[in-house]
Amino acid sequence: MKARKKTDSGHTASKASDLSPERRGVIVAHHGVAVEVLYDGGERDMVRVKRRSGHVVGDDVLVRGEVLERLPRRTELRRRDAMRGVHLVGANLDVLGIVVAAFPLPPAGFIDRAVVAARAAGLDPFLVINKCDLDQADNAVAALQGIYAGSVMVFPLSAVTGDGLAPLLAFLGAGHRGAFVGTTGVGKSSLLNAICPEIDLKVGALNVFNDRGCNTTTVSTLHALPDGGELIDTPGFQDFGLVDISMQELAAHYPGFEETHELACRFRNCRHRSEPCCAVIDLVAQGRISAERYATYLEILNEVESGELEARQREWKK
Ligand code: ZN
Repeated sequence: MKARKKTDSGHTASKASDLSPERRGVIVAHHGVAVEVLYDGGERDMVRVKRRSGHVVGDDVLVRGEVLERLPRRTELRRRDAMRGVHLVGANLDVLGIVVAAFPLPPAGFIDRAVVAARAAGLDPFLVINKCDLDQADNAVAALQGIYAGSVMVFPLSAVTGDGLAPLLAFLGAGHRGAFVGTTGVGKSSLLNAICPEIDLKVGALNVFNDRGCNTTTVSTLHALPDGGELIDTPGFQDFGLVDISMQELAAHYPGFEETHELACRFRNCRHRSEPCCAVIDLVAQGRISAERYATYLEILNEVESGELEARQREWKK
């Protein structure tokens, strides 16, 4: 019989090619140098991982003894923070909730960037308009519905009063795994608490396996919701910048341009800026896409273009 070795995680396990059964599960929490795995059978366990393992919450894994193998991902959601750092937020999500407040209204282009990023990553975006209990809410809801209802599902609600929460719970309960993005002050935390009361208890948890004396560990967690569905909660997920979005992706996924997909521009890679026979420019001329919506599109297009130029210049310098 092989010698059994006490590993630093406190588990007793035999060496690699041992006879431990292979178990399949999903990473439900990440603690830096260890992940919590929820196995198909319902049991949970901590498994040590390398500090920069690249594993994230939502990853499907096979675990044999102390060895964890990540399975291919269906989707990856990335974001860029204010310092231009890129973060992988979660794996295998299928929906992204974009949370805004009825008052004050979100910064221009925020919803559009998030919709494009979600679609480019293979996720279905939906819009949550929080704080609908405020006096000024009705006009804001009507305006946002007018712009976005043709493109994504819209859920006007109040996390504080609970009004409007039921349709969102029913939507998530239809087997969706999602995450929420929103800028500071939109009430994302109260929304999460309203949807999943257990979140409060788990966030801010635990410096498990903290062997380097660090006392801050960012914990992101995958929660099973009481009415079905799953939610990934990532602290500090507030800034939302486009990551690796190409001009073509922006042109293809911008909310409000869906009608042009069938009409088709002359050029397959049309950026809808000044190309001849452009379906978008035609619809703007007819007033079916508002000048304001088109202006926001051009603004984001400029941003993406200069981002791509910067990236190319970095490549040349190498
Ligand atoms: Zn076009």
